[in-house]
Parts: sequence; C-alpha cells; structure tokens
Amino acid sequence: MKLSRQFTVLGSAIFCVVIFSLYLMLDHIDYSKNPNGERNQNGQLGILQDKIDHLERLLAENNEIIANIRDSVINLRETVKDGKMFPEGSMSQGNGELLPPAPALLPIHSEDCQFASSKMMFSPAFFQMLDVYDLLSFDNPDGGVWKQGFDISYQDNEWDNEPLQVFVVPHSHNDPGWLKTFDDYYRDQTQHILNNMVVKLHEDSRRKMIWSEISYFSKWWDGIDEQKRDAVKRLIESGQLEVATGGWVMPDEANAHYFALIDQLVEGHQWLERNLGVKPKTGWAVDPFGHSPTQAYLLRQAGLSNMLIQRVHYSVKKHFASQKTLEFFWRQNWDQDSSSDILCHMMPFYSYDVPHTCGPDPKICCQFDFKRLPGGRISCPWRIPPQAITDNNIQERYSYTQRTLFYRKKSKLFRTNVLLAPLGDDFRYTEAVEWDQQFENYQKLFDYMNSHPELHVQAQFGTISDYFEALRKSTGMDPVGMNVGQLAFPVLSGDLFTYADRDDHYWSGYFTSRPFYKRLDRVLESHLRAAEVLYSLTLANIQKYGQPSDYPAVDNYKLLTEARRNLGLFQHHDAIAGTGKDWVVVDYGTRLYHSILNVKRVIVSSAHWLVLKDKPAYYHDPSNPFLQMDDVQPSQDALPRKTILEVGEKPRLLVACNPTEQARTSMVTVYVTTPKVRVLDALGHVVRAQVSAVWNDATLGYVLSFVAQAAPLGLSVYQLMEGMEPRTEAAKYMFLQDGMKISVIHLGMTLKCPENISCLQKMRLKEDDSEFLVKVEFAWYGTTSNKDKSGAYLFLPDKEATIYSPSQPPVVRVTKGPLFSEVTTTFPHITQNLRLYNIHGVEGQSVEICNTVDIRGEINREIAMRITSDLNSKDRFFTDLNGYQVQPRKTMAKLPLQANFYPMTSMVYLQDSGTRLSLLTAQSLGAASLKSGQLEVIMDRRLNQDDNRGLGQGVLDNKITANSFRLLLEKRSSAEEETAPYSYPSLLSHMSFMYLNHPFISMAVSQRSDAPSLIPYSPLSASFPCDMHLVNLRAIQSKVWGGPSEQAALILHRKGFDCGFSNRNTGLLCTTTRGKIHLEKLLTDLKVKSISHVSLSLMHTHSSDANPQEISLKPMEIRTYRLQLS
Ligand SMILES: [Zn+2]
Repeated sequence: MKLSRQFTVLGSAIFCVVIFSLYLMLDHIDYSKNPNGERNQNGQLGILQDKIDHLERLLAENNEIIANIRDSVINLRETVKDGKMFPEGSMSQGNGELLPPAPALLPIHSEDCQFASSKMMFSPAFFQMLDVYDLLSFDNPDGGVWKQGFDISYQDNEWDNEPLQVFVVPHSHNDPGWLKTFDDYYRDQTQHILNNMVVKLHEDSRRKMIWSEISYFSKWWDGIDEQKRDAVKRLIESGQLEVATGGWVMPDEANAHYFALIDQLVEGHQWLERNLGVKPKTGWAVDPFGHSPTQAYLLRQAGLSNMLIQRVHYSVKKHFASQKTLEFFWRQNWDQDSSSDILCHMMPFYSYDVPHTCGPDPKICCQFDFKRLPGGRISCPWRIPPQAITDNNIQERYSYTQRTLFYRKKSKLFRTNVLLAPLGDDFRYTEAVEWDQQFENYQKLFDYMNSHPELHVQAQFGTISDYFEALRKSTGMDPVGMNVGQLAFPVLSGDLFTYADRDDHYWSGYFTSRPFYKRLDRVLESHLRAAEVLYSLTLANIQKYGQPSDYPAVDNYKLLTEARRNLGLFQHHDAIAGTGKDWVVVDYGTRLYHSILNVKRVIVSSAHWLVLKDKPAYYHDPSNPFLQMDDVQPSQDALPRKTILEVGEKPRLLVACNPTEQARTSMVTVYVTTPKVRVLDALGHVVRAQVSAVWNDATLGYVLSFVAQAAPLGLSVYQLMEGMEPRTEAAKYMFLQDGMKISVIHLGMTLKCPENISCLQKMRLKEDDSEFLVKVEFAWYGTTSNKDKSGAYLFLPDKEATIYSPSQPPVVRVTKGPLFSEVTTTFPHITQNLRLYNIHGVEGQSVEICNTVDIRGEINREIAMRITSDLNSKDRFFTDLNGYQVQPRKTMAKLPLQANFYPMTSMVYLQDSGTRLSLLTAQSLGAASLKSGQLEVIMDRRLNQDDNRGLGQGVLDNKITANSFRLLLEKRSSAEEETAPYSYPSLLSHMSFMYLNHPFISMAVSQRSDAPSLIPYSPLSASFPCDMHLVNLRAIQSKVWGGPSEQAALILHRKGFDCGFSNRNTGLLCTTTRGKIHLEKLLTDLKVKSISHVSLSLMHTHSSDANPQEISLKPMEIRTYRLQLS
C-alpha cells in the first residue's frame, strides 16, 4: 500500500512540475490582464490555452486518483485505530503531521452526556418565559393613566399594621458615549456630577447616591487629589455612596459576547478593589435594551446577590405586575440545583426617569422631579409643573401625593411593604443647584411623612442595596443568601428579549446596526485573549528561567490594560449596539482599531520570546519587530488586508499561534511573492499546500494555503522556500456562464450552482449519505410607510422580505483546489464566498460563508441572508445568548415580524427529529426563523431617519462589511424533548465556532535577520477536555505598583453539549473528562506555584478546595482561579 502510494505521488510529482509551470505561465498572462477572466482566443495564446486545458483535465484526473489513494490510506489508518480510546502518540512518519491524528471515534465519557439529557424538576413557583409568551395576547389596550398597565386600587387601611417603607434611590445614568463621545460627556457633564456629589453628600449624612460606570469613575479618580479621594472613601464607608454593579460600563446584553462581558466586569471590579476596597453587592441595569440571563449568571458568579433591570417588553411588565412577580429569583434554564439564583427586581413602568418611577401616573410623578421646577431648562410634558416644598404647602403637597396615590399604588404591584423609587435620569445632578432642588425638597417630604405616624409611611433616601437589604429582611431572608425566603418570591427562567417599549416598536434593529463594528469587536476580542494568554505564559517563563530579558513586560501590560478598557467601553449599550452618533461611532472604532494594533504588538513580542531557542538572544525593537503579523487594517473603518511575504531561496520562517486550548489542525493562508513555494514543518517534512490567485489586486502576489498543526495554546514554526514542489498545487478556475451547471464536492458536501443565484444547493450527512436541500439567498427589507420608521434601534419593516434578484446575472467564479474549493458570486451589493475545505478535521465538516456587503447606495433598506432547508423545524428555532448558552425560540404569528427577531452572538440553529442545521457566526447580528426550515440573518441596514429614541439621526455611515459564518449540518439522535426550555450545541458545533472566531494567528519572521533557531512552543502536554474552554489567562495588576503582579486570573468555562450527534470523524483532537483538569500534569514546563478558587471577578476568595490542583467544574459553570505559575 505504502509503496504504491509513494510511486503514485512521485509519478504525479513529475507530471505536476511540467503542468504547473505551463499553468502558471498562463495564469499570469491571463488573469493579470483580464481580471474578469475572459479568455483570449487569439493566436498562439489560444493554442496554448487549448493544450493547457487538456493537460489540466489530465491533472485533475490525476489529482483525483491521488486524493482517492490518500483517502483510502487515511481510512485504513483510522480503521486500524477505530475503537481505541486514544491514538498512542503515533507521529505519522513522513506525512508532515506533528500531531497524532484525530480519533475516528471521539471518546466521550457517558457521564458527560447526562447533563444535556437530564430532565429537570420544576416547582409550582417556577415559571418560564417561553410559557409566559404563550400565555400573553400582546393586545396593548389603553390602561388609563398607566397607559400600558391597569388601574390600581387599594384600601386606606392596608398599611395600618405595617407601614410602607420607601427607599428613594438617587442615580445618574451616564452613558460612556452616545450623543457625545466618552471624553466629551466626561468634560461637559460627568466630572461635574462626581465633583458635586462629594460636596453635596457631605452636606447631609441622610443623602445617598449610587454610581455604576467605573470607566467614568476611574477617569475622574485619576484627576482628583488625595483629599477628595479620602472624602469619597468616607462616603463609601458611611454607606452614602454605593457602587452598583461596578463594571467598566453598563453593557449591552444582546450583542456582547461573554468573554467581553466578563472582561469589563473584571476590569471594573479590579479597579474598585485596588483603589476603594469595595465589593459591589447589587446589579443596576436601567438602560440596556432587553436583558439576558447570562448577565444574571455572571453577576451571581462575581458574588453579587441582587440585581435590577428595566427595559422589558411592556406586555411582560404588565403581566408580571398583575401577578406580583416583578421581583423574582432569576435562574438559568440549565440550572439543576438553584445555585445560579439571583434576586432580581424588574422596574414596572415605561422608563427609569422620575415621571415613571414613583407610581403609575407620570403626570403626578413628574411634579416630584424638582429639576423641572418652573424657570429651569426642562419642564413636565404633562403640563403640571412641580412646586418647591415649603412649610406652607407641605401639607397640601403631601395630601396631594396621598390623594393621588403617590407610592401606594406602586407598592400594590409588589409582595412586600418595602418600596423602591429611583430618583434620577440621564446625566442628572450636574449642577449644585439641582442637588439642592432634589435633595432638599425630598427631605422635607420625608420629614413630614415620617413625623406623622398616622400616615403609615416611612420614607428615606437609600442606595439600591439599602432597598434590597430591607426587602430581604421583610421576608425573613438572610442579607445575601438565595435559598431562604424563596416562598416569598417566584423563580423565573428564560430571557427578556425582544424588547418593545410601546406599540409594535420592537428593538430588534440594534441586533444588527453598524455590523462593521460588531465584527471589529470580535477581532479585538480574539486578539486580546491570545495576547493575554501569551503574555501570562511569557512572564511565567521568564520568571522560571530567570534570564535577563529585554522583554517589555511593563509596556505590554500597559497595552493590555488599554485594550481591556477600550473593549470594555465598547460593550456599553450604545456602543456595540450601534446606536451612537456617527462621530461617536468613529471614536469607538478608533479605540478598537488602536487596541487591535497594540495587542498584536503584545502577541508578536511574546511569541518571539517563546519560540526563540536561544533566549538570551532576545531583543525588543518596537520599530522593527522580529515577527510581523500577516495582515494590516489600513484604518478604523476599512477591512484588513493581507501583507505580502517575500519568499526566496533562503527559508522564510512563519510562526502559527493556536490561541485555543485544544490541539488544532487547520488552514493557514498567507500571501506570497511567488507561486513556487515549498512549505516545510518544524521536522523538515514537506507540507501540502495550495496556491491560488489574488483576484482583487494582482500586485498582492499569490495566496498560499496549507494545513498547519499546533499544540494547544502552542506556537508552530513553518518554513517557506522558493522552489518547485509537487506537494504545492495550483488551484484551477472557471467562470460560470449561461446554462452551465457546476458542482464542487469535498468530503461529501456539494456546492451546486444552477442558473439561479443560489449556489449552495445540497448538503450531505456524512453518516448516511442522505442529501438535504440547503439554499442560500439574499433578501431586502424596506421600512414601513407609517410615521414611525426603522432606525438605529427599531426594526419596522414594510412587509415580508423580497428576494434579492438583481437585473444582471451575477459573476460566478469557481475555484477548485486540493485543499479547498470555493464559489465566489459577485452581485451589485454582495460578494459571497462559499468555501469547502478538503481537510479531515473540524474545518472539513462545514461550509464557510463569507458575505462582503456594500449597501451604501441604498435608501431605507436592510439586507438579509436567507437559508432555506427542507428540515421540518416548524415554528421552533434556537439562538445563543452572549455565546454562553442557547435559548429555544418560538416564532409566533401573534407577534409582528420584527418581534420574531432575536440576537445571535454565536449561533442560530433549527432542527427536526433527525437533523440539525446550525449557522455559526463571527459577529453579532439579528436572526429569525420566519418559516419552517428557514433561517434569516440581517447583515446590514441603511436607514434615512431617526426612530425617536433620542439618537436624532438615521444610520447612513455604512461601510463595506464582511460577515463570516459556518454552516453545519448534523445527524441528530438527541433525547432532548421538543418543548424543553434548554438546548445545547454538539461538541463539533462548539469547536467549529472556536475555529471561526479564534483562527490561527500567523506571523512571519521579518526579512532582515539571519534566521535564528526557532523551536515550536507547547505549554501543555495534552489538549484541554473538548468541553473545557480557557476563557482567559489574564495577568493581574500588582497592588504595589502599576505593572503586572506574578499572578493571573485563570477563567474556565465548562461548556454544556448534547451527545445526540455523531462522534465519528469529528476531527476533534481532545476528549472529555467529567469536568476535571489536573493543571500540574497538563503543564509541560511550568509548575503551579499557587492556585486558589475565587469569585468570577476575583473579589471574593472561596474556601480552599481539598486539592486545588484538581480543577473540577460542573457543566455550564464559569469559574475563576487566582493562579501563580513558575
Ligand atoms: Zn444609556
């Protein structure tokens, strides 16, 4: 077998050399002059063409023979190993493979399969959002003064035995960028708010205030003197000032990925710990446009006990108010033992401003917003102004409030006599006089109420935790615990999307608005994560070997900190949401862009140290780094471009970084100056490669793709050399013309291009060869002709989408190659690239879809990708929440079209009893399944007008945007119930997402140096378990100085997965271990010096585990360890 194979390879090699030179000659002449590929039939070139066409056919046949032989060799090898749990360290000789091949049968422990299939027991006090949606009619009747609610009545004597206890909570909502940039808001408003706060809270110890955005607070702190800092510390110690949530921002809960949600929470909490010694207890989220249980889980894991949310669908609020379930324990769908419960308060009314927080009637409540006193800059739209409270009018004012049911009506919507009344709005308390107006007038009201026991009311200023403390006390719960008092409050599971604030105004537009930056966010996330991990490993290595080093540990730490903060800032609910002013978007984009450049500097300088054989030879030269990234983004609003690597006779070294914690075999693509390239791995074996043309710009050389391998979190080294090499093969091209049909087949998947505009037509299941229709098309949405139209927040379509059908047929280019084949279809607004990988690994199992979208010439249109399949999914589909968990969805006819769109951060899928079709995404977008078997994703939106939510502009700053996806079809034999409120991706699906979002990072050794010896770096002796994800290994700042400490935060997530999918030939290079990792045994070189289990953001240290070396996580758990390596 082996002999015949070598013979064939040799034979075809000689054949290839001849063909290849001829081919390239033509390739060069043809495509550089005729970018449209129209072949010149004149003269000698025509004859040459014909000959080459003939030779090409022969070559194709030859290639097919080789591919067949190779496949049978691989199959043979796998058959031999089939059934074995692990392939025993067998380095395949001469095949250029550094890693053991993936087992044909993925070994999964049966215990690891139980989680996804176990049935949950629910108590009667438990309710599911999916059931609530089934129940509601969404009819929106006029509720009177409380427009979206109902008339509230009460008896006068209801509080006779137990007085109403009112906590008025002053707050100021400071957006870190929206109508102004972060810095402009700070300069004009925020710094004055905070400065006045110090003075005005000190004037009266009964005054209180809460603050939540640490991005602003830390900026202010940096500019104030010690005396003022001490004054702030005293306010915090006395309980007058409370930091609520304490994240860097109040994040968007729809578009943010949990990596970034955690990172901004850690950044805020670490800042608080270092500078104030504060540990937040309560979450405060009044403005995010819909709420995710992922955020609830993260707050709980960070040690918070309570949380408050506000923007929830008005029908849901009304229903909860009528059931007195606005306060509940929020439990994760997947939680089997109530350990994720967090006490949550949902605000009942329309907004968090003063008119909507004291009770159901905004006309009344507005009269108690003393910033709106006559003569001020703002007034009450309900036309009755507030009156300053005086000795003369207090009785009248109070009896007015009582007569008009001030506070008492609101209290009727809750189960206890403790009442929350927030007092604030956007950027409130900027001027000293506003503090006086609010605090003095309210104090007079409180004094009056409290001195009249017959009124049965006790009112005071409070912080949000003061309120929750009193609430817990009133129900007999302990101050922080979750289990006592559960009888007092129900348990809710599910999520609170899609938000509507009135009528059919659903906020599903922002799931897609400014998609260019939603993608840029993800690029920074993956690079920041890689930089953090490499940086921490480099520091530990330098410490261990104690070599004098030029490594810029402090400078890199500064770059990392800045990138964490810029990424954190972008998680703000007007940033990643795409709902800021144009220039604010540019400000965010510039921050992301600079941070991407900076974390790349951290990556190359760390990778340089790690792969260098002779460590003392390390040098740091920022102006001319040893390693260079292979792509460059020219500006904040442009797509990245590959840099071209000069390849000559001297070996050019290329380092491939595997940022993930499992070993990986995956495609690396670089641009090179010559098509005659030989690729060698670190052992000197020739690696198979494919050379393709650069179509958009011939000066960019050639595309070289090869299959690289790297250890978990490892760095591989490859050599590129000029020279003829039979294992480097050229791709072949053809353009589809009228009436032509073409199919591209790799590993059982077929791209068929009939005359219409959809190229992907069939997907085949590898298990049983059954074929499924999968059609990819595009569609337009317009906006309604009503007064209110789609804008940055709202999606108000005119009707169902119309299929995209340009008058001109698209240009369809087909690429066929040994490693991948693709079909590129160019329409006026979209260039779609569908790619199949011929790799026996994760990449070979799904279709890669890349849509480059440009709708800059359109008016009031949104463009969607529509995937139609013959799966019988009915009205059910599934979207993820923050990339952390999956939420089952139901498309409902009783809701308008725009209400059936949900946020998609990592994936959307649909399924029937035998099959699941998943679309994995590399950027957050809005998704729906409006018909059985159909998936739809909005890719970009261009809208001419404001949608009346304060932004004051449309969305007209569209960019050329690249959206990337993977489409995965899997055979399903899941035990999951059709109506279960939870669902899990397969391991292959999880891993495909990782490949898409965390690709290999390739870096080339810069041209000038004589190549020093490089060695591959592998910090781990084996892959992490397939279901264990290293969320981050994040260096912790020293408390003594500004630089890094010797510790890092090790953040792990054990993913939930469904075993009801094939585990044959998944290409996964890992196994599962019942959630256990023995870190010390996994590390090759480093040792664990200390490790302790801490809360998510390192605020609390948990009692030490019996054996801290043995890390053990429950399914879905996210856990942080404080780790020191040496
Ligand atoms: Zn806001």
